[in-house]
Amino acid sequence: MTSPFVARHIGPDPDEQTQMLKAIGYGSVDELMDAAIPSSIRFTGSLGLPAGISEEETIAELRAIAGRNVVATPMIGLGYYNTVTPAVIKRNVLENPAWYTAYTPYQPEISQGRLEALLNFQTMVTDLTGMTTANASMLDEATAVAEAMTLARRSSKSKSSVYAVDADTFPQTLAVLRTRAEPLGIQVVLVDLDKGEQLPEDYFGLHLQYPGASGAVRDHAVLVEAAHAKGALVTVAADLLALTLLRTPGEIGADIAAGTTQRFGVPLGFGGPHAGYLAVRAGLERSLPGRLVGVSKDADGAPAYRLALQTREQHIRREKATSNICTAQVLLAVMASMYAVYHGPQGLRAIASRVHDRALTLAGSLTAAGIELASDTFFDTVTAVVPGRAAGIAAAAAEAGVDLRVVDADRVSISADETTTDAHVATVLAAFGAVPAAPAASAARALARTTEFLTHPVFNTHHSETSMLRYLRKLSDRDYALDRGMIPLGSCTMKLNATTEMEAVTWPEFANIHPFAPKSQTQGYEHLVAQLETWLAEITGYDAVSVQPNAGSQGELAGLLAIRGYHRSRGEAHRDVCLIPSSAHGTNAASAVMAGMRVVVVACDADGNIDMADLDAKIEKHRDALSAIMVTYPSTHGVYETLIADLCAKVHEAGGQVYVDGANLNALVGYARPGKFGADVSHLNLHKTFCIPHGGGGPGVGPVAVGAHLAEFLPGDPLEPGDHHAVSAAAHGSAGILPISWAYIRMMGPEGLTAATATAVLAANYVAARLREHYPVLYAGEHGLVAHECILDVRPITKATGVTVDDVAKRLIDYGFHAPTMSFPVAGTLMVEPTESEDLAELDRFIAAMIAIKGEIDRVASGEWAKDDNPLANAPHTASAVTADEWNHPYSRSVAGFPEGVDRTAKYWPPVRRIDGAYGDRNLVCSCPSPEAFED
Ligand SMILES: *Cc1c(COP(=O)(O)O)cnc(C)c1O
Repeated sequence: MTSPFVARHIGPDPDEQTQMLKAIGYGSVDELMDAAIPSSIRFTGSLGLPAGISEEETIAELRAIAGRNVVATPMIGLGYYNTVTPAVIKRNVLENPAWYTAYTPYQPEISQGRLEALLNFQTMVTDLTGMTTANASMLDEATAVAEAMTLARRSSKSKSSVYAVDADTFPQTLAVLRTRAEPLGIQVVLVDLDKGEQLPEDYFGLHLQYPGASGAVRDHAVLVEAAHAKGALVTVAADLLALTLLRTPGEIGADIAAGTTQRFGVPLGFGGPHAGYLAVRAGLERSLPGRLVGVSKDADGAPAYRLALQTREQHIRREKATSNICTAQVLLAVMASMYAVYHGPQGLRAIASRVHDRALTLAGSLTAAGIELASDTFFDTVTAVVPGRAAGIAAAAAEAGVDLRVVDADRVSISADETTTDAHVATVLAAFGAVPAAPAASAARALARTTEFLTHPVFNTHHSETSMLRYLRKLSDRDYALDRGMIPLGSCTMKLNATTEMEAVTWPEFANIHPFAPKSQTQGYEHLVAQLETWLAEITGYDAVSVQPNAGSQGELAGLLAIRGYHRSRGEAHRDVCLIPSSAHGTNAASAVMAGMRVVVVACDADGNIDMADLDAKIEKHRDALSAIMVTYPSTHGVYETLIADLCAKVHEAGGQVYVDGANLNALVGYARPGKFGADVSHLNLHKTFCIPHGGGGPGVGPVAVGAHLAEFLPGDPLEPGDHHAVSAAAHGSAGILPISWAYIRMMGPEGLTAATATAVLAANYVAARLREHYPVLYAGEHGLVAHECILDVRPITKATGVTVDDVAKRLIDYGFHAPTMSFPVAGTLMVEPTESEDLAELDRFIAAMIAIKGEIDRVASGEWAKDDNPLANAPHTASAVTADEWNHPYSRSVAGFPEGVDRTAKYWPPVRRIDGAYGDRNLVCSCPSPEAFED
């Protein structure tokens, strides 16, 4: 018996499926799948997964797993702190589909709400760090610091390959820095500032932790000057809460600031997801990796937000991209920014002062008890020197429910946070055999912040819950997310994110677990992670899986590093060529470069398939240096290429490894397993195929799956890296959202998952069949079928009429849709991925809108409407534009605002008209504009 959830997840019911099959000329789903999937890769068995269970049963199982985690009071620190998520933010952002089901804001006109929230985030980060420009956002602190290192490398005039690193850096950050430095030939040199160690003779960059892992707050101004004298750039990894009280990295002359925003109201989640941040001084903004939100203007000249400069950077610059970051941490960045909006500058300073006061009490009391402190200048973390007693003290505290950090046999550190009470302080002191005494005097005051921050009205207005609630509602109302309608994004699989799948994310047993908590407290998580990894291995046909990578891009890097490690272990370190087809997702090339590989492009033929003759030629030419090929399957063109098994054999024969980008796994689950059809490694995107919502551009999880021969090269624990590279700051990455994918697989079971794949392929072929006569469908496999997505070619229309792919995308907004993927993988086209979750009515509504738009295009073609004044060229239409007192267009107001098929009682009005992206790039503004900018 299949779980009742399967019919909830899959949109079209059996009758609707029959109708859809008829439209494409197939008698059954099996017949369709037999024709669509090449027999050479077809998996005919049944997935070895537990049978699907109901939503209620799934919640019960998750409750049992959650019960095996122990919610203690973590005072471990190292960049992860307990925090209070304001309930208004928890319910109305984290638990609100209007925020969590939104897509990355590539269509800015329907994303103004989250773009404003992200601009608030950028403003918050620049204000607190004293830098000029911040992005939104990074995957965690460790990867943000690694990106800062490569940014310094790109921007420094020094020829040195040495990166000097403060020995008081968080250990997990150091692990990721080492992972990222090694393939690029960067030498990480640790400098122990307390021991008076000198900086190296030459270095291109210097990394400082502020406050240090030990808690020590040091005056770094002199070091910054010394580094600049060497032509080196300085990165300061700074704690944003501390920066409400301490002099900023900007004020001491740092070039880059990096870190995490976790303690701004984002739950620990056993390591994530959290938003990292990266900010730079003036002059470096055009080298900043990741997503940058900027202010531009719309067709009426009104201010409007959109992604600036780096939008889809990898797709444009590929192997020359600044980094591989694609999916970021938007939902968590929104939460952190709202925490700052809600508390405002005074509120944040008050929280920071309370935290500091607790640390001062700890310090004063320990000193009074005769215990030495490693430093008497600190913000929230005190390190006690207790020769030989560290483990015993930590055990005593743990017994009383508080986790401390055992630095080594002789030192224990204690981090206070927003939730720390007098009782916690007393408990900790008792473990040391001390009692509360007078607080120490604050030595950090010498480094006190004197500058203002968060002066913009947005941080000084929404301090009551009523005002906050309405602000959140106002912003989410501006956006189009899955809670309004279909988001037919090719390559992104915007399927249902079921509420039951989301439930466990905010349970304290999952949300409030520190990533470095003792193993005895995290058994539930360990079980869930191990089970999920086993299931993903079964689904993909690989032997081992790691869920550590925080996005698909990070999975790519981890997978390529595994390949690199494998070649090196066999004495073939010289193998460094990575073949990548011209149609590949841009992250592939960027990741290959980060893994120290040389990218060689393989051509595609007229049908969009990999050109096998060119592949042969490239293999021959690079035979001795061949490291890997990276291919997406089904191809980024949405086609099941028949020659994939051949391709794998050819590359293996030349000594290379095969990387199959698994972002399109929604077309394979239950029908084909990359690990069995010849590939060695894949990454999956749990935020695509396995129901983690896109969050408006993150979080994501990009597990890496490998064959047995690569298993020993999978990422390792960042606190005990050994030979294993860590690619994220926490062992299980964004563990806090893994219950979502776990629940999906648990409810669907093998039959449900297989049915989902078939329905996704059916839906894509249905859309292709219905739209083919209006828009050419660019590529198809054997039998004229597509896989789970289809590319509609708008180029002939553009050539004949001047109507562009942009015009169609923006006009879809007037019809109440999010546009499909635009101009990827082929410029001038739209890629549609309907997924299995949209029912026939919604598919038909989309098809009808596309056909109606074609009708409008025909009226432009016939000359009835002018090329520069028609509903397409002027789309999208705002309520304000449609109701303006003047209307001089050749089409009516109702054609503009209520085109065919739009429900007049449920119309989505975009808040701005078409946005001029280029204007914003020329006039870069990346923090909140003054309110006057919005006056007429
Ligand atoms: C989405 C995607 C990626 C990148 O994944 P992120 O999670 O955004 O880093 C890589 N390859 C393909 C084909 C994709 O669709």
